[in-house]
Amino acid sequence: TQAQFIAAQFAILKISTGDIFRANVSEGTELGVTAKKYMDAGDLVPDEVTSAMVRERLREDDANDGFLLDGYPRTVPQAETLDEIITDVGSDQLDVVLELVVDDEEVIRRLSGRRTCRNCGHIWHVDFDPPKQEGVCDDCGGQLFQRDDDKSETVRHRLEVYAEQTAPLIAFYAEKGVLVGIDATGPVDDVTERAIAALRPFA
Ligand code: AMP
Repeated sequence: TQAQFIAAQFAILKISTGDIFRANVSEGTELGVTAKKYMDAGDLVPDEVTSAMVRERLREDDANDGFLLDGYPRTVPQAETLDEIITDVGSDQLDVVLELVVDDEEVIRRLSGRRTCRNCGHIWHVDFDPPKQEGVCDDCGGQLFQRDDDKSETVRHRLEVYAEQTAPLIAFYAEKGVLVGIDATGPVDDVTERAIAALRPFA
């Protein structure tokens, strides 16, 4: 949710691994078929698969002027591979890593109410940011759907996976001196404002 606003504010390319996986699932590619099993279960797609995909994406010309990674890295091995990829493509190392600090109950409320546009990918929320007409995207008229992995049982499992595999990245990036945390509770717009303020010094 925040990545789309941050990318727009700083006019920077947004690369979301979840979006790339979902596009592959809809197109029925081999990568999509592999990823779907993990995604539906709320598990992480294996590091080799995910990092190979990111490596390929960061080699494209449009990534030369900087990028915002959304949803990657999600494990320490992915973060280590990212360092290598960045060196290989001749980019500068990461300027900043943004941690959105919010408690689990709030995460469950937000994800289980989230609705995504099948056509343009815009994200709405049934309580916090509802579209004017239920099930229809205000931006493009596309149909809204609930991601399988946003169903509440799967969200709980994703939180366990986060604690086990992703949370160690906080220490990893804090040690490198690039971690900035913001309070991510409250309305979407307030969080966006905090995120932009925290990132502005790096723009
Ligand atoms: P997201 O849209 O970022 O929540 O990602 C949706 C799902 O895609 C995740 O629950 C994972 O199954 C998969 N995925 C996305 N990014 C990664 C990643 N960096 N590593 C492994 N799996 C990922």
